[in-house]
Amino acid sequence: MPATVIDGRALAARLREEVATQVASMQEPPGLATLLVGDDAASEIYVRNKRRLCTQVGMRDLHRHLPADVSQGELAAIISDLNADPAVTGILLQLPLPKHLRADDLLALIDPDKDVDGLTEASAGRLALGKPGLRPCTPSGVIRMLDSAGVELRGRHAVVVGRSNLVGKPQAQLLLERDATVSICHRHTTDLAAITRTADVLVVAAGVPHLVGADAVAPGATVIDVGIHRTDTGLCGDVDTAAVAEVAGAVTPVPGGVGPMTIAMLLWNTVEAARLRSAATAAAV
Ligand code: ADP
Repeated sequence: MPATVIDGRALAARLREEVATQVASMQEPPGLATLLVGDDAASEIYVRNKRRLCTQVGMRDLHRHLPADVSQGELAAIISDLNADPAVTGILLQLPLPKHLRADDLLALIDPDKDVDGLTEASAGRLALGKPGLRPCTPSGVIRMLDSAGVELRGRHAVVVGRSNLVGKPQAQLLLERDATVSICHRHTTDLAAITRTADVLVVAAGVPHLVGADAVAPGATVIDVGIHRTDTGLCGDVDTAAVAEVAGAVTPVPGGVGPMTIAMLLWNTVEAARLRSAATAAAV
């Protein structure tokens, strides 16, 4: 029987509605500061999308577009200003940055309570230690998709393909937090398919088109495809979805799977940042 397709677009739309309801109930709408440096075409599209949806859910769009030759010091000063500005709930530094800028050092300046991308060292540390904090958008979107599809995680074998700081590593930690038994595969894994075939839940974030085929998936498994690649015939993911759908229990499409959830989680994190701040303020009084 062909697999159930987990509709990321529909889930993301529902999540955005949830966010909009929460924003409407707040005294002050949260503000999302997006920082775009230079004129990378793909980054411009990503940021435009984020800003559009931010406005759509009733948040303040606090965008800054900086010239490609902005200096490390100037950008650092802007981040400090945003950290100090009470109208700014979340800060997003769109990557990649031009070569002359040290992205890691700049990310490290972002106040962890405003780190809505969840990618700073502080946020990664909080996740690793199981402390409250803002989680990276893509892997937390994946957890939401699994939850909404009714996939049990406790005690199940979850296999993550990829160990990037952006997806694989935090994904493994989030699955661990949900009591799954987690294996992480990467480019040095010998016999990848032998391991992925033992997965109840398989999350693929390797950046390799069609890395996972039907022979690498157990019957009935849930397969989440984080990859997205532009090919001559359109977009495809890290999973050969058509073939895998004949074996798996559930799959995510590309496009229309994990992608839309990632932006919805960014908006969710911005609401979460507002909540963390009001909790911190209440605790300080
Ligand atoms: P992303 O940001 O999508 O996670 P990266 O390029 O940062 O992508 O990371 C790719 C990850 O995928 C790395 O951790 C790498 O080890 C893993 N990877 C790449 N190729 C393979 C492969 N053939 N088999 C298993 N893992 C792979």
